[in-house]
Order: sequence, then structure tokens, then C-alpha cells
Amino acid sequence: MTDSKQQYVIAIDQGTTSSRAIVFDHDGKIVSTGQKEHEQIFPRAGWVEHDPMEIWTNVREVVGTALSKANLTRHDIAAVGITNQRETAVVWDRNTGKPIYNAIVWQDTRTQPIVDELAKDGGLERFKDKVGLPLATYFSGTKIKWILDNVEGAREKAENGDLMFGNTDSWVTWNLTGGTDGGAHITDVSNASRTMFMDLDTLTWDQSILDVFGVPASMLPEIRSSSEVYGTVHGSQLLRETPVAGILGDQQAATFGQAAFGVGDAKNTYGTGNFLIFNTGEEKVMSENGLLTTVAYKIGDAAPVYALEGSIAVTGSLVQWLRDNLGIINSAPEIEELASAVEDNGGVYIVPAFSGLFAPHWRSDARGVIVGLTRFVNKNHIARAALESTAFQTREVLDAVNADSGVPLTELRVDGGMVANDALMQFQADILGVDVVRPEVVETTALGAAYAAGLAVGFWNSTDEVAANWNEGKRWTPNMDQAERERQMRLWSKAVTRTFDWVD
Ligand code: ADP
Repeated sequence: MTDSKQQYVIAIDQGTTSSRAIVFDHDGKIVSTGQKEHEQIFPRAGWVEHDPMEIWTNVREVVGTALSKANLTRHDIAAVGITNQRETAVVWDRNTGKPIYNAIVWQDTRTQPIVDELAKDGGLERFKDKVGLPLATYFSGTKIKWILDNVEGAREKAENGDLMFGNTDSWVTWNLTGGTDGGAHITDVSNASRTMFMDLDTLTWDQSILDVFGVPASMLPEIRSSSEVYGTVHGSQLLRETPVAGILGDQQAATFGQAAFGVGDAKNTYGTGNFLIFNTGEEKVMSENGLLTTVAYKIGDAAPVYALEGSIAVTGSLVQWLRDNLGIINSAPEIEELASAVEDNGGVYIVPAFSGLFAPHWRSDARGVIVGLTRFVNKNHIARAALESTAFQTREVLDAVNADSGVPLTELRVDGGMVANDALMQFQADILGVDVVRPEVVETTALGAAYAAGLAVGFWNSTDEVAANWNEGKRWTPNMDQAERERQMRLWSKAVTRTFDWVD
């Protein structure tokens, strides 16, 4: 058991739009929070980057904010857990500790030519049996290859063993545990399962795939479980000597935070994109309906738990686009007011295929459309159609989950920034035809990382203890008749076909 003074666990949530630090107590309740956004860098159409140095500075700052807000010191903290935007690739020099290029973000589509080239020999699914993923720009592998191919001197440095790759979990952990002064270069199985390089059975890097990509194994972090003591925070930092004891990719962390530990449990997170994860237990299920096979988590020496995942690239970021690119709302929550001012979508459907379409279509040739425009349509209908697109895309993914598992899901646990939107959640229940349930603590991503870390140090003793902390916050029940639900889905599906084959 941990020191009795240590009544809290801190989670660092290094997300796509911001970094957060959240202190949790033993009941899984939020004690204090620090949060800071970082710059989204768009050098060209389709390119999305972050500055890893800015991210690391922000992480330190938000940890300080969270501790000081609650008047806590490192002596009150039993462990640190880390969760992160997955797939985003950072490559840095192990001698200087400096990135050799900006982080290439998961949404970035610049590596499409690499995907096309690799697919020539064996198609998009050539590695799927081993890694659970189709070839796509989304995953880290092609992003690492792009950096090695395009940054001057990178390949030579990599071959000399001077470079390190990591998703932002590895970048934060390496810096937190000492950086150039002996930092731990590690990742967990859930993050590793998003690179394209990890064999899902052995949980090790696959040399034959690395050879195809031309990525030296020396760049890659060591793959560890999601819940164990990896090391301690370096002496130069605020949380010095505190154990770093949990790492989970953000979606797997949310699964953990939702206590979706049983086979058949599922959660859907509504953030920048949407990610539905369906727990398949110790069985690795290969999807026949466009879902990914991924590692949900591995607790210490226990067997890994696998999941099917439906990843949707654009949901909350469409709301940001309405705000930043069209200017029809000033803030994300305003969309609810605008959308609720009209009775329906006025016949408008928006398919936000900004980075192609992910699950269940995997169409990199798709680009976004707004269809059904008439002289009648106004900005309220556009706002409504934007919100509804999140619900329709989720329905497509849920249909795929139901088809793969053969057992229809009876309710959906939800979390993420968009679940504050009542209109969206009601429409979601309507279009799914099942209940949608939000927990009391909606910061499930950070909570999951805290649980993983706390379990490793004995702050919590079992997943059952953690699951007992889950409480229902709000429930939405379907209120749409079946004929209308099917009519809407039919129109949506037609709109989706209009996005295809748009890239020359
Ligand atoms: P991430 O972890 O991916 O950075 P969050 O879970 O913080 O994202 O969710 C933020 C997203 O949710 C943003 O894309 C924002 O546009 C959207 N969002 C936030 N509040 C609302 C709201 N009330 N209605 C609709 N969308 C919202």
C-alpha cells in the first residue's frame, strides 16, 4: 500500500488540442485541473503538426497548476499516469533531446503517397492479420517513414542510432523521467498497437514490417504493459521521485475510465474525432466490417485485453471548423442553440470527410460534402446537420460492431467534450435506437490513466474496486420511430457516397 499521506493520483492527458493534468482522489473524483491549449500548425492543406517542445512546456505548466490549485505537493501524490493523443509521431535526437521535426499529428494526410506505394505490393490490408490495422495515413508508421525520407540527415542519424521515435506518451515519459539524463524510452501496448509495427500476438515490434518501412528498430521505444512502475520523475522536476506507473492511449484510457472491463462492454468518446471501443477480452477479433483490432490494455503481467475500434476522424473538429473557418458560431457550445432553433436539418447532410473517411469506410479518396442545399436552408440547418453528422457516423460504426460481434449493443457509454451537448446526445439515442449513458465523471480519459497508475502502486487494488467508482450521470432514451430513423440513415448513406473519388 502507498504512503497514507498520498491520497491522490495525478493524470497527465496530452490531447490533440490541449494538455491537461488532473488530480483524482480515491473515489475517482476530480480534485483539481490544469489545462493549456497548444498551437495547431497547418503548413499546407492536409498537414497538421504540433510543436513537441511547446507540448512539453505545457505539460509541466499544467502539472504545476493542478497541484497548486489544490495546495498539493509531490508528497500527496501516489503515482503519475499518462494518456495521450495516439498515432501522432515525434522523432527526436537522443543526444540533444530536441525534436528533428514537428510532431506529425494523427489527422495529417501527407503520407498518402507512401500508403499508395506500400499498398502496391499486397494491398491496404497486407499487414492487417499481424497488426490489426489497414495501411492508412492515420497510424504512426508512415509518418516516421516520411520524417526519415524528408528531413535532411534524418535517415543517417537514425541508422547511427541517434534518433528516438515516440507517440506523445513516450515523448512526455522520456522527458519526465530525465530526458538526456537517463530518461526511459518506453511506450505501452495500447500506443504501440497504433504504429503498424506491433505484432498483436507477441506484443513485440515486427522486424519484417520495420524492414518494409525502412525504420531502424533502435528508434523505437520499449513496449511495456499499461500499468506498472516504469520509473520515477527526475530530480529536476516538480513531481520528483513520484512513480510513473500507467500509460494508455487516450481511447483505451477512456475505456479504462469508463470501467468497460468486461467482454462486450463499449464506450464512445466524442472529442476532436469519435472513437468507439468494444472490449473483446483476451480474444483478438479481426473485423469484417471496417473496424480496427487493437490492444485495449494490459495490466502488469496479466494477459492483454483486446478491442475492436471504430475511429471517426472528424466530429468535434467539424464544430471547430464552423467556428474558425465559417464563423457562424463564436464558441463550440453555441452550436446547440443554433441547431435547436429549427425543427430539423431542412434536408441538409454534411459528411465531414476532411481527412478522407475512417471507419467503417477507410476511403482516403473521400472529401467533405454538404448536400441537400435549397434556397430554404439557413445557418441553423447547417449547424444542425453538422451536429447530426457525428451521430450518423457513430451509428455506422455501431452497426459494424454489431455485425462483427453478432450481439447487438443494448446501451452506449459516452464521454468527451461533445457530450455536454444535450441536443446531440438525444439525437444520438434517437438515431441508434438504444440508450446513451453519460457517467458522473466525464473526464474518463484522464481518469483511466490515473486508474492504470494507481493500480500499479496499490492505490487501488483491483479493477472491481475501480469499477465500483463508476456512477451514472445522465441517460438519454430513444424517442424517434423506426421508419424515421431508417429514412434518415438512408439519406445519410446516400450523402456518404457523394464524398467518394474526389481526390485526383
Ligand atoms: P480532445 O480530447 O479530442 O481534444 P475534447 O474531448 O476536449 O477533445 O472535446 C473537444 C471537442 O468537443 C472540440 O472539437 C469541440 O468543438 C467540441 N465541443 C465542445 N463543447 C461542445 C458542445 N457543447 N457542442 C458540440 N461540440 C462541442
